[in-house]
Amino acid sequence: MSKTFFITGGAGFIGSAVIRELIHNTDNHVVNVDKLTYAGNLESLVSVADSERYTFVQADICDAPAMQQLFEQHQPDVVMHLAAESHVDRSIDGPAEFIQTNVVGTAVLLEAARAYWKNLQQQDADKAEAFRFHHISTDEVYGDLEGTDDLFTETTPYAPSSPYSASKASSDHLVRAWQRTYGLPTLVTNCSNNYGPYHFPEKLIPLMILNALAGKPLPVYGDGQQIRDWLYVEDHARALIKVATEGDVGKTYNIGGHNEQTNLHVVETICEILDELVPCKVKGNSHHLPLTAHDSHKQLITFVTDRPGHDVRYAIDASKIERELGWKPEETFETGLRKTVEWYLANKTWWKRVQDGSYQGQRLGSL
Ligand code: NAD
Repeated sequence: MSKTFFITGGAGFIGSAVIRELIHNTDNHVVNVDKLTYAGNLESLVSVADSERYTFVQADICDAPAMQQLFEQHQPDVVMHLAAESHVDRSIDGPAEFIQTNVVGTAVLLEAARAYWKNLQQQDADKAEAFRFHHISTDEVYGDLEGTDDLFTETTPYAPSSPYSASKASSDHLVRAWQRTYGLPTLVTNCSNNYGPYHFPEKLIPLMILNALAGKPLPVYGDGQQIRDWLYVEDHARALIKVATEGDVGKTYNIGGHNEQTNLHVVETICEILDELVPCKVKGNSHHLPLTAHDSHKQLITFVTDRPGHDVRYAIDASKIERELGWKPEETFETGLRKTVEWYLANKTWWKRVQDGSYQGQRLGSL
């Protein structure tokens, strides 16, 4: 039976992938609740905008009356909470917004969901029984695996390093407390680094693709030996929908792609894919002369001062979600990265409008 999904942060990178998957490949309804910060981009949702199963509302999750009203109005079956400030470097420059949205906003949303769910228990016991609140989080809450071969499991103790990961850790704790204390039917997922289409160009992979296309330096933090475990965003979206609809209440599931790569290897692989597809515009070759071995985009790689508190290694053990829910990623790092580079080459209008700021002109469906 068709369900109504209440998705926060649906105009962001991962939320928009979840919504595209729900609208294109299921018969469910979606209410997308997003404040449209700089990271929210309705142009990532043009393919669903005309669907009568899709509704957008511009609202802040910190706005308690608005959240209560939206729950009552839309009567959701499932909440998928993705709204967050998500960029680690920004959290170092200005942590307040991260605490506001990620911690306070999550608490506001939990309270609105709890009030709605309590009413539902009086009015529609079956719907209340099936209600789910799924909180989407990061593997960065577990801290740093430097110098070990360990993997993060669902029982790894929390040890966040950045204001971003500390705020996400706080929100995870709040969600578990609402389950334990009030019985709210929650689920938590912690996922590794995502990449793929519609990724905001401040993040590593799109930044490197777009800088390389422009012949600009490719800034790599420190020695580039930090290890991240990469997952293609559409694989993450499918995993999230599986957890929200089939996961066991109260459980946590780690999600990852078994793709541990150093940042330097990621950047070099992007350069190699681009070398095959487009001429290199490095200084001295701006006339698109045929490539020589010396004209690889790799020439643009520049090492810059490391980020303070930079974790060295993250790696996820995703065996629980694979075993219990039968999820597996479809993309390898090689296939996913090639698809991503090709997407940026084919979708210049999307990222040029992000770069010149015109994507922020769209403001629809405010409360
Ligand atoms: P994103 O920054 O691309 O999108 C966040 C969205 O939330 C934006 O559309 C923004 O407008 C919205 N938003 C921000 N503050 C809001 C508020 N107060 N009220 C309503 N909406 C608000 O983030 P993303 O990369 O899509 O990440 C989504 C979630 O997944 C986050 O919770 C993040 O912590 C988590 N996560 C991300 C990754 C990753 O690699 N990107 C990995 C694991 C987990």
